[in-house]
This record gives sequence, C-alpha cells and structure tokens, in this order.
Amino acid sequence: MVNFMDITFLGTGSAQPSATRNHQAMALRLNGDIWMFDCGEATQHQLQKSKLKMGRITRIFITHMHGDHCFGLAPLLCSMTENLNSGLPRANDPPIEIYGPRPLRHWLRTSLKSTYSHLGRPYRVHELLLDSDTPDTSTDYHDSELPGENLRLVRDTKNPNKTPHYVMNCTEGDVAYTVVGVPIKHSIPSLGFLVQEPEFPGQLDIKTLTPILQRNSEALKAQGYKNPLAILGQLQRTLKPVTLPDGAILMPPVARPGRQIIILGDTSDASPIISLCQNKPHLLVHEATNALTSLDVIGLKPGTEPPTHEEVEEKALSHGHSTPQMAGKLAQQMGAKKMILTHFSVRYKGDESPESLEVMEEIRSLAIKEFGGKDNDVYCARDLWSFEIKYD
Ligand SMILES: [Zn+2]
Ligand SMILES: [Zn+2]
Repeated sequence: MVNFMDITFLGTGSAQPSATRNHQAMALRLNGDIWMFDCGEATQHQLQKSKLKMGRITRIFITHMHGDHCFGLAPLLCSMTENLNSGLPRANDPPIEIYGPRPLRHWLRTSLKSTYSHLGRPYRVHELLLDSDTPDTSTDYHDSELPGENLRLVRDTKNPNKTPHYVMNCTEGDVAYTVVGVPIKHSIPSLGFLVQEPEFPGQLDIKTLTPILQRNSEALKAQGYKNPLAILGQLQRTLKPVTLPDGAILMPPVARPGRQIIILGDTSDASPIISLCQNKPHLLVHEATNALTSLDVIGLKPGTEPPTHEEVEEKALSHGHSTPQMAGKLAQQMGAKKMILTHFSVRYKGDESPESLEVMEEIRSLAIKEFGGKDNDVYCARDLWSFEIKYD
C-alpha cells in the first residue's frame, strides 16, 4: 500500500517575519509520523494552529544555523516532550533524532542548559560535518541528551560525478526511508535534504500469467508441482525468472521506485544535489527570497527606473539567495514533477487579499517560465498550507 505523505508549511518568511509569514518551518508527514525541516521562532505556535500533533514528531532536520531556521528548536522540544516539571527523560521513549550542521549540538545543549529546561523525552543531535569541521566530542550532555553521530561526507569512488553527501538511515515503523544531505551554496554552510522512499514491490500481471501456467499445467504436475499456480507466489517472493516446460519465461514483477522529496535550505546554487537524484523527484521545495514584481514599479519617484531582473538576481546572489527564475531552472534541470516556492522576503505578504495574491501569482509565473512544466506544477507556499505528495 502506498504510504500517505503531505507537507505543511508552518512558516514561509525569510529573515524578517511578518504578520502573515512566520519564520521557516515545514512538517513532512509520513503516514502518522512527522519530520520537521527547520524550526524558526514560534514554530510551536504555528503547530498549535495546524492539525498536526507535536507528539508525532520523530525527527527534526535543520538546514543551517541562521536564526530564521532554528530559533524555535529549544522551545519546541520543551513543548513537544510535555515535561512541565523537572525530571529525567522517560527511559523507554525513543529519542528525538535531530540532524544539522555544526554547531547545532553545542548551541541546543547550551540553550537548554542555560534556561534550566528539562525534557520529557531523550534527544540526540547528529552533526553533518564539512571536511574542515572538527568533530564535537564533548560529553557534558544535557540530562535528556544521548550521544549523537558525527557524520562525514561520503564520496562515491566508482562515480566521481556524484556530489559528496551524507547518508542517514531513517526507518519509521517498517518503512526504511533514506535521507541524503548535501552541502549547498549560501552565505553560511547550508544543506539540502533528499528524502528517498524505498522501492515498492512490483505487481504481477495475473491475467496474463495465469493462462500461460494453465497451458503448462500437466507438464508442471509431472515435474512435481501440486498446484502450478503457486509459481505466481514464487515469482513474487524470489524475484527470479521461471522457465516453464514449453520454454516460456515468466519474469518477476518490476519494482516501482519510491518518491523523492527534496527540501533545500537557503541557497543561491543547489545544483550539486542534481547528481544524487536517481529518478525525477516528486517534489522540490526551493527558496525564492527576491523577485522583480509590480511592487518594484508602484510608487517609483518620477525619473527613476525599476530594477532589472539581472539587478534583482545580483542582489539575491550577494546574500546567498535565489529568485523564482533560479528556482525554476533547477527544477527543470533535475526534472522535478512539482515545485513549491517558500522563504519569501517580507515584502511579499502571505495573506489572501487580492493584492497579495496578485504579487504571489507574478512570482509563480516567473518560476513557471524557467521550469517549463505545467501551470499547476508550481506553487507559492503560505503559512499553514498543506500539500499532499501523491504517488504517480
Ligand atoms: Zn533564511
Ligand atoms: Zn540563511
């Protein structure tokens, strides 16, 4: 059965939050479990406004250490573990797994310790180290903290074109997800995450195979098969071809690839992640901080010219950010099926007034031009908006 997947945008603003856009946070729901991607200030307030249950959060991925992506982490941990009184963590609860760059572990530990915060569940922080990083081997743990891993970049010696990356095995229940982390370009170390769903077993075409088995029925019985149709079960189980007495070869069902979801931190160039896309990603979430829209024309003083697209792109690049066109280009290069834009400048309001929607539609159109996909393949996120990632 195909697992349910959706993503809720809890915050869609950039450096400066506004009344209509909170700081960055996304909740990816995989069946009942929730994985958070970034955790800006007041993420817990946004969660309370949504239908999501904090207690279902099992993993938190932090893309980078800019405050608009992580200031809400310590308070969220305090609330989601529901430990209002001091006490040691409940030993039998699984730890909350947190992943991110250095110095996430030290920073979170210091925040929790220096505010005398106690948690009702254990946690651990796995740090994704750059080659230049020294691993944090300190052991002055918070009383709810378990030792986390220090992950190094993996290099594929057989395929040097593959970007060095981190691999995280993130099994939830009986589904073995893999998350691949990749350093991407920003003003500070930033990460993109690629969530890979495992393959689905293929389905046998019983209608076609049954008559072939039936015509070989007598010969198969002579070979000792009491029930020749049991070969169907054998094909599904062993995934090995079976040659029948009349020479027909029954092929095992072909596995169907799982979904790939790519969620990027702030970036002015995330192209290194393309080499790690095995298939066409079902969804790319990309920032689009700056854009040239009608807002740049309205209210211009007489005699002044609005900026050009090139000037807006230059400004975005100088701060390590992207325009909708840059996002659309990457989506096109990796063959993404859908793209959602987020991390908008404070200029772009996230309410539903006609004026705000019009500007967001301009931003969406700029991305579609480069993406070249269908009109309904590109979306601009709003706070508390959810999108179902369907398997197709
Ligand atoms: Zn940011
Ligand atoms: Zn940033």
